[in-house]
Amino acid sequence: MGNLSEHFSRHEFRCACGCGGDDKIDKSLIAKLENLHNLLSAYQIIITSGFRCPKYSPTVGGYTTDAHTKGIAADIIVYKTPSEKYDSATVAEAAERVGFSGIGIIDDTAVHVDVRNLSNYFNSHWFGDERTGDDFIKTFDRGTVFTPRKKTIPISVVIDEHKYSGLITEE
Ligand SMILES: [Zn+2]
Ligand SMILES: [Zn+2]
Repeated sequence: MGNLSEHFSRHEFRCACGCGGDDKIDKSLIAKLENLHNLLSAYQIIITSGFRCPKYSPTVGGYTTDAHTKGIAADIIVYKTPSEKYDSATVAEAAERVGFSGIGIIDDTAVHVDVRNLSNYFNSHWFGDERTGDDFIKTFDRGTVFTPRKKTIPISVVIDEHKYSGLITEE
């Protein structure tokens, strides 16, 4: 259990330059990352870059006002199992399904996702592929049927003054 949500902790999003910046992480970014985790039944989502301060972002290929500096973006690699990564096309497709408004394929496994809109950014939509420089991808959707993880819900019941606790799985 992370301190931001079930699967994510604040330190994972901290600026890598050492400035300590991590206070701007957008709640809807975390909520969508949780939805993505669930849709892909992920083993783990690794945040390779989360918040970046305006000084640091240009040193790793971004710019001083990019989505990372606003706390609305994450570069991610999604593990299907402890040793197998999802390919970036599948991650981008699932990211589109859960409603990320900014999605950019970085390489064969890494994907940039963000929750840009006109109140937090200069535009409200970007689907791109950094490998080709294509900034006008219409959709990543290939019609893949995902099988999201079923949620387990803790329950406890009292029968004849005995308390029974356990987990039930949502149908
Ligand atoms: Zn920094
Ligand atoms: Zn990024």
